[in-house]
Amino acid sequence: MSSAVARNADNPVRPNKPANFTNKPVNLGKAMNVIIARNTYRTNPITLAIYLRISQDDGNNLETLSITNQRDLVKNFIASHADFTDAKIVEYVDDGISGSHTDREAYKRLMNDVENGLIDCIVVKDLSRIGRNLIDVDDLLMNHLVTLNVRFVAINNGYDSFSSPLSNLELAVINLANQHYNRDLAQKSITARNTKSKNGEYLTTQAPFGYKKCDKVKNKLVPDDEAAGYVRIIFSLACEGKKTTEIAKILNTQGIPSPSVYKKSKGWADVWHNVIDPDHCFWTSGVVYKLLKHEVYIGSVVANRFKTIAPSSKRVATRPREEWIIAPNAHEALVSEEDFNKAQLVTVKKRYHDEPGHIFGNKVKCPSCGHAMTRYTKNNPRFKCGTVKVTDHYGCKTHTIQQSEIERNVIPAIKAHADVLLDYEEMKLAQIKKSKATTKSLEAKIATEQKSIEALEAQITKIFTSLASGKITQEVFLQKKSSINDAIERKQLGIEKSAEQLRNLTEGRVRSEKVVAELKQFLVLEKLDRDIVNLLVDKILVHDEKDIEIVWCGGFGGSGAGV
Ligand SMILES: [Zn+2]
Repeated sequence: MSSAVARNADNPVRPNKPANFTNKPVNLGKAMNVIIARNTYRTNPITLAIYLRISQDDGNNLETLSITNQRDLVKNFIASHADFTDAKIVEYVDDGISGSHTDREAYKRLMNDVENGLIDCIVVKDLSRIGRNLIDVDDLLMNHLVTLNVRFVAINNGYDSFSSPLSNLELAVINLANQHYNRDLAQKSITARNTKSKNGEYLTTQAPFGYKKCDKVKNKLVPDDEAAGYVRIIFSLACEGKKTTEIAKILNTQGIPSPSVYKKSKGWADVWHNVIDPDHCFWTSGVVYKLLKHEVYIGSVVANRFKTIAPSSKRVATRPREEWIIAPNAHEALVSEEDFNKAQLVTVKKRYHDEPGHIFGNKVKCPSCGHAMTRYTKNNPRFKCGTVKVTDHYGCKTHTIQQSEIERNVIPAIKAHADVLLDYEEMKLAQIKKSKATTKSLEAKIATEQKSIEALEAQITKIFTSLASGKITQEVFLQKKSSINDAIERKQLGIEKSAEQLRNLTEGRVRSEKVVAELKQFLVLEKLDRDIVNLLVDKILVHDEKDIEIVWCGGFGGSGAGV
């Protein structure tokens, strides 16, 4: 931080009239309000306001942001700056945590003193002391301090209205918005959720099978009598030593509704698992397994079990158990802990669906029931529908098919499929290449709009100078600036729109070229791997040993090509 302030006792503060604009006009930045840097001003002695604030918004940082810490930091800063020697220091404190200063009483007092010309300079630890959002900060800087000739220093943002170039302010405000506003809020909402889970609140919208949400207490589970009965039957069958497949078969034979069918019959949306056939959902070994493993049935709320694989992905992975949040005795248990543990014995060493690592993943399906076929790995890997073991409703066939047989069929099919896609993609690429004229006109449009913005920005500089020299009033200035800013904003929106069209064209071409290159490789494919299968194949339906149907993924390389 610079301390290049001219010491000039003859140049006192004159509230409501900006004085001594000795700096050159600067580019006054786009649609954002700005502050004029001044470099000559001095009162003797100056009155310096320290504003300290702590609030509920500060979340986990209460220790580092404590009033004492803020005060120490600000005082150290003042002591190390020669400009502030002999300054009279006045402290304004808002303690929103203890509640002793509600509604930012000290801040209002400070602003009042500023308006009355009692304050020459304000020092804060960082911009977020003023407020959590851009509007608060902007309002303070623009509408109060600039026009009242008050110096403003935000230590941790490296901002000093006397010495910082305007772009620094812009940067500081943007940083403030990003760091404190967005990320903090996201983090805070996760923290708040986790705290609720630890306190035994069940936050998922849908109650698990066997429970319903309590009408009286928010986020509390209470037994749903009918389904709770089914859950108890399942645990007692497991305690008798029945395997998950056997349990599923018994439930299906007795016509006990599966979670999906049950929820549908009650008019609730199903979230239990992917519904393949909504009219005839049935118990599978996998559904029974999941239910027997769920600690919700011994009265615990279990949260934080899953995480998304990537920010944009809907796919989830199970977190290690140490990361789970488990709140015991959160609600009425449906089974005793003893029975729960006994039931776990039938789930031990039991794999409930096929090995996830092999090249066909969950892609090989039975056309009758729609479920993934079970993969048996003894000798040569082979697939067989497991549904027949739990129900004969779908009339599934009992044939098995070797994995090598599927591979032998899939490779030539991929080649043929790639050939068709290639034709389509090459056609698309040719069209994109033809659209050069569009690209040029978009580029020209952007350039024109940019020039208009520069002209508007020059107008802002001009009215600033008029304000500084007293030709126009603050009111007229703010009015004009606001309408110019609106115009700039409209132009910027136009530019963004054109730029996006341009980007789409360019990206479309790059993507198309990439897809063409990839497809050409598939034409000479010799060996399958999991990535290729995932990229191209939606599912493989095995009608019988000799009749395999491949269903392709809808898009390829995001190009939307599909056959
Ligand atoms: Zn089947």
